[in-house]
Amino acid sequence: MGFKEKGLLVVLSGPSGVGKGTVCKALRARGTSLHYSISVTTRKPREGESDGVQYFFRTREQFQQMIRDGELLEWAEYVGNYYGTPVDYVRKTVEDGRDVILEIEVQGALQIKKKFPQALFIFLAPPNLHELKKRIIGRGTETADLIESRMTVARSEMELMENYDYVVENDEVEKACDRIESIVLAEHCRVDRLIEKYKNNEGADSL
Ligand code: 5GP
Repeated sequence: MGFKEKGLLVVLSGPSGVGKGTVCKALRARGTSLHYSISVTTRKPREGESDGVQYFFRTREQFQQMIRDGELLEWAEYVGNYYGTPVDYVRKTVEDGRDVILEIEVQGALQIKKKFPQALFIFLAPPNLHELKKRIIGRGTETADLIESRMTVARSEMELMENYDYVVENDEVEKACDRIESIVLAEHCRVDRLIEKYKNNEGADSL
């Protein structure tokens, strides 16, 4: 059998409110090669969200059962709700040679780093924390208490940047997308991913 490159598992993470969702949406609109994993959550759908599109919305009992059944690649409790990545979709897509992107918070990213260190870890950073707070307030979906707890989490999340391969500043969404696309492209050209292809690769009609 010929050489078949596996897909990349791209983990896009960073503090709450930094714009991970917006950047992912913009990447999607560009029609990149990245496939988006839909997470499972116990939080209630926001207006305009529906089951199976933004998330699979489940009860806490259902979520705990998924953990017990080993159906999640990673999971985390975040501001009172559970979030997790279904393992099947990720495994099948990567095995099939297609790239998957996960948009997740940092605790989940660290779990993946332990289980799957060959994944590509990208930290999306705000220009500064003041800007981050403005963005969370601007979203208008959170109460004052929740904004404060998200900021507390965000400060500690910034300290975890050192565990990542790349940092991308989300100063402008399109610029952030350009950087992410460039990183993914470069990763596909790594020698350790491709060396097998060039071993004994004389071509069909070699002389
Ligand atoms: P939101 O409630 O605003 O949609 O998401 C809250 C946080 O949960 C965001 O930082 C988002 O990236 C993260 N998140 C979404 N899906 C997952 C997941 O499957 N696993 C983990 N660990 N975090 C997730």
